[in-house]
Amino acid sequence: MTGASSGIGRATALTLARNGAAVVVNYLKNEPGANEVVAEIQAMRRNAFAVCADVTRLGDVSQLVLAALQNFGGINILVNNAGSLIQRAPIEECSEGLWDAVMAVNVKSVFLCSQSVVPHLKRQRSGRIINISSLVAKTGGTGGAFHYAAAKGAVNSFTIGLAKDLGEFNITVNAIAPGLIHTPYHDKFSSPDRLNAVVQETPLRRLGEPQEVADLVAYLASNDAGFITGEVLTISGGR
Ligand code: NAD
Repeated sequence: MTGASSGIGRATALTLARNGAAVVVNYLKNEPGANEVVAEIQAMRRNAFAVCADVTRLGDVSQLVLAALQNFGGINILVNNAGSLIQRAPIEECSEGLWDAVMAVNVKSVFLCSQSVVPHLKRQRSGRIINISSLVAKTGGTGGAFHYAAAKGAVNSFTIGLAKDLGEFNITVNAIAPGLIHTPYHDKFSSPDRLNAVVQETPLRRLGEPQEVADLVAYLASNDAGFITGEVLTISGGR
């Protein structure tokens, strides 16, 4: 579970654990947040440990996957959740560095983690890959987010293509495209006015909660979702 120390990742790690999974809680900087998630999972009498890894770097990803294999003896579910808008910018002010960073954290990370995990899933002829995309892949976002929208669009295409390649190995690959979800992400990237405008254009007239996304991940990870692959499921209150 990448980016599991906060927001959607945190809620998903706890939900998968509640459903019986042992969880590798990956984090980048928020060690206290990751340790809290691990402690909550251990309090459920499930296995968990935290691993600091930058999922945009192949070396870090290899160590992360190795740690999972060494501690749990296998991997059944990969949730590619780490992602970020990094910074809103008009196109004239979007530097090459910002473009590359947005692509790295949202797309390259999904590629690297999937590539590292797939050989193990293929060997056991089963597995689930669940990518956290975004509704912005369809809508383009709410201003200065074209780079992030493009990156999440790439996640959707990657999901559909990889699902075709891995179907014969009984591995499903799906993406979830959340609309606006109430997480620390928006303390950084969205003003109260922007959030309010989104609520007004949402048929259900509210933001989503991380738990609601976590429940959808848990469904896709379950046996009940065994015939669903190559899908991008929107969870957006109707937006
Ligand atoms: P968040 O900022 O709480 O979570 C993102 C997590 O990714 C953080 O824990 C962060 O440390 C981690 N991360 C960032 N770069 C990393 C790296 N290089 N290596 C490892 N971890 C890294 O925000 P969130 O809202 O919970 O976001 C989770 C996912 O949901 C992201 O992919 C985001 O794009 C997506 N999303 C969020 C919303 C929303 O409204 N909150 C909507 C659509 C999609």
